[in-house]
Amino acid sequence: MADSNTFFQERYAVLLTKHGKEQVIKPTLEKAVGIHVIVETGFDTDRFGTFTREIERPGSQLDTARLKARKGMELTGLDIGLASEGSFGPHPVMPWVPWNVEIVLLVDQKENAEICGEYASFNTNYAHAIVSNFQEAENFARKVGFPEHCLVLRPDNERHQSIVKDINDWEHLKEAVAWGIARSAVGKVCLETDMRAHANPTRMGNIQKAAENLVQKIKKQCPWCGTPGFSVTDRKKGLPCEWCGRPTEEIRAVVYTCARCGFSQEEIKDPDERAPAGRCQYCNP
Ligand SMILES: [Zn+2]
Ligand SMILES: [Zn+2]
Repeated sequence: MADSNTFFQERYAVLLTKHGKEQVIKPTLEKAVGIHVIVETGFDTDRFGTFTREIERPGSQLDTARLKARKGMELTGLDIGLASEGSFGPHPVMPWVPWNVEIVLLVDQKENAEICGEYASFNTNYAHAIVSNFQEAENFARKVGFPEHCLVLRPDNERHQSIVKDINDWEHLKEAVAWGIARSAVGKVCLETDMRAHANPTRMGNIQKAAENLVQKIKKQCPWCGTPGFSVTDRKKGLPCEWCGRPTEEIRAVVYTCARCGFSQEEIKDPDERAPAGRCQYCNP
C-alpha cells in the first residue's frame, strides 16, 4: 500500500489563478505533500464568473472548481489540476450573518481521484452599502477593513453597468465617490467589498484554511486501496446519554468512504464519550 505522504511526491500539479492564490496554496501543499505546484496565470479565470456579477458562474461552486482544474491541465498537459473557488452569501440558517465557503480542489486525472478541501467561516467582510457622500463612504470603508481590503464602486446601485475596481487608498476612494455621484441619477453610489483573493486578506486567510483541510484529507488514505482522500461522508447519531445510556440525537460516529473504490469504514469518535442528559429525550423530555 502506498504511503499517502508519498502518493503525490515529486508529481506536478497546475494551479490556474490570476488573483495570487498561489501565495497560500503552493507553500501549504508543497511542504506537506511534496507535490510541485506550477502556477498558470495566462488564463482569465474571470470567465468562470466574477463576484461583481458581470459574468455569472457557470455552475455550482464545486463544478466551477472542476472546470478550472481541468482547464489548467488542458493548458499545461499536466495530469493534476488544482483550483480554488469561493462563495459568499447569507448563512443558510442565520441569514442575517454573512458566510464564506472556500474550497480547494485537487483533481488527479492519472489516478482518477478527486479530493476537496473545505473551509466555511463567519470571518468575512462581505458587505455593501449605498452612500451619498464621502463621509458615509469613509464610515463603511473603515468598518470593512479598508484600505488593506479593497473596494468596488458603482453609481446608483449594485446593478449599474459602470464599475470602478481596485480602490485601495483613501485618495482613490474620494475620487471614485465623486465620479460615481456625478454619474448617478439619484446622487448615490454603491460601495462593495472586493472579494477577489489578492484584494481581500481575510478571504486569503480562509483559502489558506481550505488548503490545510485539503492536506489533512490527502494524508488520510483508504485502508483498502491506499488512495488519499478517505473522507467523511456521513455522521451517525446515537451517542449514549450520560445518565440512562439510551441513544440520543448527538453524533456517535463518522463514516469515511473512499471515492475511488467505495470502501467504507465507521469511526467512533471516543467510546467513552457520553451525551449530556439535557440532550436525552428520556431524561429531559
Ligand atoms: Zn479505496
Ligand atoms: Zn437519558
